[in-house]
Amino acid sequence: MTEVEQASVLRKNIVIVNCREIRTGRQRSGILPIIALLMLSMATGCSQSNPNQGKTSEQSPQAQEAASTPQAQSGKTKVVATFLPIYLFTKAVAGDVADVEILVPPGTEVHEYQATPGNIKAIATAKVLVKNGLGLEEFLEGTVKNAQNPKLTEIDASIGIKPLNEISPVVKTTPDEKDHEHSQGNPHVWLDPVLAKQQITNIRDGLIAADSRNKATYEANATAYIKELESLNSEFQQTLQKNPSCTFITFHDAFPYLAKRYNLKQVAVVQIPEDQLSPTDVQNAVSAVKKYKVKALFSEPGVDNKLLNSLSKDLKLNLRTLDSLETGEIDPQHYFKAMKANLQTLETSCK
Ligand SMILES: [Zn+2]
Repeated sequence: MTEVEQASVLRKNIVIVNCREIRTGRQRSGILPIIALLMLSMATGCSQSNPNQGKTSEQSPQAQEAASTPQAQSGKTKVVATFLPIYLFTKAVAGDVADVEILVPPGTEVHEYQATPGNIKAIATAKVLVKNGLGLEEFLEGTVKNAQNPKLTEIDASIGIKPLNEISPVVKTTPDEKDHEHSQGNPHVWLDPVLAKQQITNIRDGLIAADSRNKATYEANATAYIKELESLNSEFQQTLQKNPSCTFITFHDAFPYLAKRYNLKQVAVVQIPEDQLSPTDVQNAVSAVKKYKVKALFSEPGVDNKLLNSLSKDLKLNLRTLDSLETGEIDPQHYFKAMKANLQTLETSCK
């Protein structure tokens, strides 16, 4: 029996014990976790309802520290940022003059996130809330209401950015797949350094409006970060122009802005939620490879997926990782580190 078939059988078993879906965080590593989950689900009678359960163990000590920073006793403005890239950008602009806290701990899936009581408390005591927008942070809807903070200023980092609606081919795994993620266009704008500049500008202006006494600092910090984004953009341009229209397959529709900016082509094979790769995903990937001239398959950092590995061998395509920055270190410089690693991966794959 092939791995694909084994996984298929195991998935069916999961259905039989009436656990339609038990998530494993960002792990999508094939058969062993499925067996483990199967045993777990039989033992627990499928009582898990919070998809984020068990994920907090993936947090780094810094992330835990950031998530539990108490309200500023220093008199600094308290700012909450939704998830990693927005936290990095906000922290870059705020520097030391405001206290920035992250709501979605790195390592936790933002697309399916459910707010915690701690999140409500954080928003209730904050002066500013910064979000990516474009429909990504669905969890905010009820959370902000529950926080009952009339003094809260919300910054939508994507104001003025024209969202893309599936510019790159997206292979849907199931016809009734919920398309909530893209109800307002694709939200992954932070992965294009040029649009990231716009997000920095929006965050800067929002922080200045909420805390004008630190205007000069916000301006200086934003200018410095934008300069770095500009040189990152030139690096991408110079490196990738040698291989135009390079086509790659992802299992997360995260890179259409990056692809458009640098004349690449993303074919996204998606299933939302896409925490586990299904045999249908694999079949879709095989037909996408046949249909398009595909140079590489990209999974994500920390994912060790046996199905993807055997698929890449069968298709004689390299399997590499491309980082959507939805998880990682909480230092603002991490953005550049991860994006430069992405550039190197793209350069190698597109040769
Ligand atoms: Zn995403």
